[in-house]
Amino acid sequence: MLAFVNAHLIDGTGAAPLRNATVVVNGARIEAVGAGAAPPDGAVVVDLGGKTLLPAFSDAHVHFGGTELLTRPGLGGRDITYDYALNSRNCLEWGVVSVRSAGDFMPDIVSYRDDAASAGLPSPRIVTAGRMFVAPGGHPHDTVFGGNEAIRENACVICDGSTDIDAEVKALADSGADWIKAFLSTMNKMNYPHPVPRLPNETLRKITEAAHKYGKPVMLHVEDPKDAEEAVDLGVDSIEHFIGVGVTRFDISDALLGKLRNSGVFVVPTMSSIKAHDFPDVPVYPHLAEAIKKLLDAGVKIGVGTDSAIPFVPLGESIHIEFELLASLGLKPLEVLRMATKGNSELLRAGDATGTIETGKLADIVVLEADPLDDIRNTRKIGLVMKEGRIVADRILSGIV
Ligand SMILES: [Zn+2]
Repeated sequence: MLAFVNAHLIDGTGAAPLRNATVVVNGARIEAVGAGAAPPDGAVVVDLGGKTLLPAFSDAHVHFGGTELLTRPGLGGRDITYDYALNSRNCLEWGVVSVRSAGDFMPDIVSYRDDAASAGLPSPRIVTAGRMFVAPGGHPHDTVFGGNEAIRENACVICDGSTDIDAEVKALADSGADWIKAFLSTMNKMNYPHPVPRLPNETLRKITEAAHKYGKPVMLHVEDPKDAEEAVDLGVDSIEHFIGVGVTRFDISDALLGKLRNSGVFVVPTMSSIKAHDFPDVPVYPHLAEAIKKLLDAGVKIGVGTDSAIPFVPLGESIHIEFELLASLGLKPLEVLRMATKGNSELLRAGDATGTIETGKLADIVVLEADPLDDIRNTRKIGLVMKEGRIVADRILSGIV
């Protein structure tokens, strides 16, 4: 048993922080939380001296196996294993203990997810979409993936008129995918502005219906706000990106805002990746920021995700960039942290035992050297990371125990 005492506690619910808090960890779970409570007899006591303790972060949109074409020769898992180990370490060191992989290589990602969970590998908790439903000739298979045959077979389901959508969704669900991912996009980032084909609405409807039939939520890649209305009508569970690089229309009507809010759908804007990949001559980031502020003001649920492990968007560190960008919209750090912990826990559907520091929850904990409520950039000052009661990254403990 381990007891953190004298912590500045941010519990992830959005409640005001608690000074001089005691948090008792027993095995994988939080056994007790209280202000000034004496640690139980026999517990290892860690006096945090006022350092901030909060729930570990989650990233709602990553590609955990990476997406870079040149690192994906024949597949088979051998080349990927190293990526997974490195990606895991990067996540944990930056306090990211849960991720949703928004399209990844099958069956590798599912094998790694299950091995990491059952063998207790130092890895974030993973929920994953597996193969992605894509139009023939469409994004991303025939754009950023360059038509790569191995990616076609292992990371995509190319849907033409003859594809048995129900069978494909069932196969993915049976092989362990937690989410179903599809694309609603005509954007061709490799040959801008020439559009590529998109999935017809009828196909997207079949994908969504089949996913829900097999108990899987749907995440839909959307790049143009006009398509977000269609996404809500389809009944998807999360909308990814919302405005993509290269888009030139940014109308956010009150009708759309109302529809998004009333549906309860999450929008995951991945602002850090949109900013990193923006076209200098047709920048969309300022429009995305303005749009997401409107969504927040209207009460739309916003997920905190980065699209990391795509090129130039590093896993782990990028979540802290996303925090800064959210704070730059006027959100208080306490609210940004609630969104990245309790909020993302609801979005990821990784179980209701995550996302807050409360009795009975899994002990997914980050200790920060400085107060993130003073400055959101202090989330980078990570002293210690715990996942399910195990210390998975530590820069302070040897100095204070
Ligand atoms: Zn993505």
